[in-house]
Amino acid sequence: ISKRLDFFTDSLIRRMTRVANKYGATNLSQGFPDFDPPQELVNELKKVADTGPHQYEITWGSQKFREALAKKQSKYMGLAINPDTDIVVTCGSTEAMMVAMMTVCDHGDKVIVFSPFYENYVADTILCGAEPIYVPLHPPQFSFDKDELRSAFAQNPKALVLCNPSNPTGKVFSRDELDYIAQLAIEYDTFVIADEVYEHIVLPPFEHTYIASLPGMYERTISCSSLSKTYSITGWRLGYIIAPSFITENARKVHDFLTVGAAAPLQAAALAGLNLPDSYYIKLQNLYDNKKKVFLKGLDEAGLKYVEPQGAYYVMVDISEFWDGSDVVFCEWMAKEVGVAAVPGSSFFKEDINKYVRFHFAKKEETLIEATNKLAFLR
Ligand code: GLN
Repeated sequence: ISKRLDFFTDSLIRRMTRVANKYGATNLSQGFPDFDPPQELVNELKKVADTGPHQYEITWGSQKFREALAKKQSKYMGLAINPDTDIVVTCGSTEAMMVAMMTVCDHGDKVIVFSPFYENYVADTILCGAEPIYVPLHPPQFSFDKDELRSAFAQNPKALVLCNPSNPTGKVFSRDELDYIAQLAIEYDTFVIADEVYEHIVLPPFEHTYIASLPGMYERTISCSSLSKTYSITGWRLGYIIAPSFITENARKVHDFLTVGAAAPLQAAALAGLNLPDSYYIKLQNLYDNKKKVFLKGLDEAGLKYVEPQGAYYVMVDISEFWDGSDVVFCEWMAKEVGVAAVPGSSFFKEDINKYVRFHFAKKEETLIEATNKLAFLR
């Protein structure tokens, strides 16, 4: 067995879903909706069953999918994205991130990862033979220290991973923070691998800035995202990379040998999502803003302390006032005895921080209310 696997465990996010299933707990751990995707997508999927395609699409994604995606993303990112050269369609952004990392990293390269981080980044880095350099995001606001970030860049990393809006913290990086990251990336000639899967789940009054849209950044940014969160289709495994052609022509090679391509019938059906009007994204944002309000109200009533999210659909709840041990033990206990599953915060931190658990609120309001009613027994 490869020694690389000694450096990380299985995903605690996915493990907690298995724990939730085992105890029949309300699953607020692995972030995915318990409501249906837009009807347009479901209808198109039914049609595609009859009409196909049922065979491979070309490896970097169907022409129609890339054209529809380029049109939508050009508008939202404020960039002219070429559907023929600038896109690779992948099996979820999970593959997109791994491909991005494998495309730019050599053995021994360094990659800056903010801590807390989404679990996959560390596994991706190590599986590429690269080495993470951690830069802390300091609670409670999860902001970085400019000098700490500069010191990390001074080690000449190949890339920086940016998750914005951020999983697990719900942070939306400010324009000032992004400008500083961009300035350092340009100064030190570093790639930015951006995970922007929550690009359309930004909670008012916060606003999302695509780092690729900042001056001088398109040519060094690999923007990774997916349709999972935007259209509530996490099981379709449709993601993508957007980057300039000198990157994508190499990323396409990696992607081809990893997976050949994303599921052809699902690419066809997903066009119904990519072609939805702008009003859909406004409704999505309102939907999640309401869910956030319902969930935070429930947390308040349960007397729990948390860091208010600015985007994405996660909340870090502070358990330190009533729990003094391992957060992994706490989460197992909570799933079994309280009936709600969450992810132990330590899974996201490089530092030894045990005081948070991460809940997600991509659930029907009734599910969120049921969960917070149970959580009231914690205090
Ligand atoms: N992004 C989701 C989470 O953090 C789940 C992603 C996954 O399991 N692939 O919970």
